[in-house]
Amino acid sequence: MEYFNKEIETMSREDMTKLQSERLVAEIKYVYENQTLYRQKMDEAGIKPEDIKSIEDIVKLPFTTKHDLRSSYPYGFIACPMSDIVRIHASSGTTGKLTVVALTKRDLDDWSEAFARSLAIAGVTKEDVVHISYGYGLFTGGIGAHYGAELMGCAVVPCSTGNTNRQLQLMRDLGATVLCCTPSYAMFLAEAIEKSDEYNIEDFKLRVGVFGAEPWTQGMKEQIEQKLHLKAYDIYGLSEISGPGVSMNCGCEDMHIEEDLFYPEVLDPETLKPVPDGVKGELVFTTLRKQGLPLIRYRTRDLCSITHEKCPNCGRTLVRMSRVTGRTDDMLIIRGVNVFPSQIESALTKIEELNGSHYLLVVERVGILDTLEIKVEMNPNYFSDQVADIEKLRKKVDHEVTSAIGIAAKITLCAPGEVPLSEGKTKRTIDNRKLD
Ligand SMILES: [Zn+2]
Repeated sequence: MEYFNKEIETMSREDMTKLQSERLVAEIKYVYENQTLYRQKMDEAGIKPEDIKSIEDIVKLPFTTKHDLRSSYPYGFIACPMSDIVRIHASSGTTGKLTVVALTKRDLDDWSEAFARSLAIAGVTKEDVVHISYGYGLFTGGIGAHYGAELMGCAVVPCSTGNTNRQLQLMRDLGATVLCCTPSYAMFLAEAIEKSDEYNIEDFKLRVGVFGAEPWTQGMKEQIEQKLHLKAYDIYGLSEISGPGVSMNCGCEDMHIEEDLFYPEVLDPETLKPVPDGVKGELVFTTLRKQGLPLIRYRTRDLCSITHEKCPNCGRTLVRMSRVTGRTDDMLIIRGVNVFPSQIESALTKIEELNGSHYLLVVERVGILDTLEIKVEMNPNYFSDQVADIEKLRKKVDHEVTSAIGIAAKITLCAPGEVPLSEGKTKRTIDNRKLD
């Protein structure tokens, strides 16, 4: 088993707790002295840096939210002089207001190491040719993967997104062994190969896929693995904490968190109290070594669970998080029931007569009643235009979906190609209710 930083990745729990405690004490002192807005939060809560003596004291500290970052746009949360900042990223939200993050040289080095450790988890070495189809630019995906793969010593092909034909040509001709992109883009490329007369998957050398930046399901993962002839890994990150590389799965389902850099807590989304290992809640991160934009108890809105149990798959001792199954703010409330698009996707991708990852959810309010319509493509191999066949399949999908989400939905079966995946992050939900 290869490691990028064996000392950290296999550290005993006792040593990790000691390291996290030392780093938290230093980070809080630094933040209190340099980050005015968080110092105000601490003052309001009556907490002084001296009150934080170990990692267990983290629960005493106030939270930071995305709203805090947006309302202090652009530089309100920066904790160092601009002369120490070497990179700025920004992400846009649904409200149109940008969230800006800024990094020092050491922040960049830590992020690159975190991504390189993730690559090592997937068995990537300096021998690999890494094709990056994440977007390059303000989004952290492309450049984050790029720096991490270069630090590992891989041959990096910075393709960014778009121009499918050129992507496929470069991947095949340059002998890419590793593909980094969003899962929906991996599916898009896989289907482009299937449809093409020019490309045959047998001519590609792909063996590892590092996919992240949007939620996906086990069913979609299996489809991508089978279509692209590679082993797919989940990589997790968020630009506010660090781009991709905060955590990565090692072959078991769960993802190891680089917890010496990013300390995780899972909290009940209602009470904001910690939940036990294995129980799902909102993921909250504290950066333990950030200089440019340190964030203390940042509420990610992502829902998952964590476990400290020994990993059955590799020798890493780093805590593991489950795949993110939704976001507290992606959650749809339909007729009083919490519905996550990922639950529906899971049900759809299990049905082999469907192209289950090609779906769209449409929510409407008819009178006082909310309705959910699920449009999903039929698998071309099972496609039929016979009314009786379609009705039989529709009933099967209806049954699977209802048992997954607990409410009935209108199922609309579409011909292959009618619910296309886009090249970037694919929008899965259209909510036409006027709820404000
Ligand atoms: Zn492991």
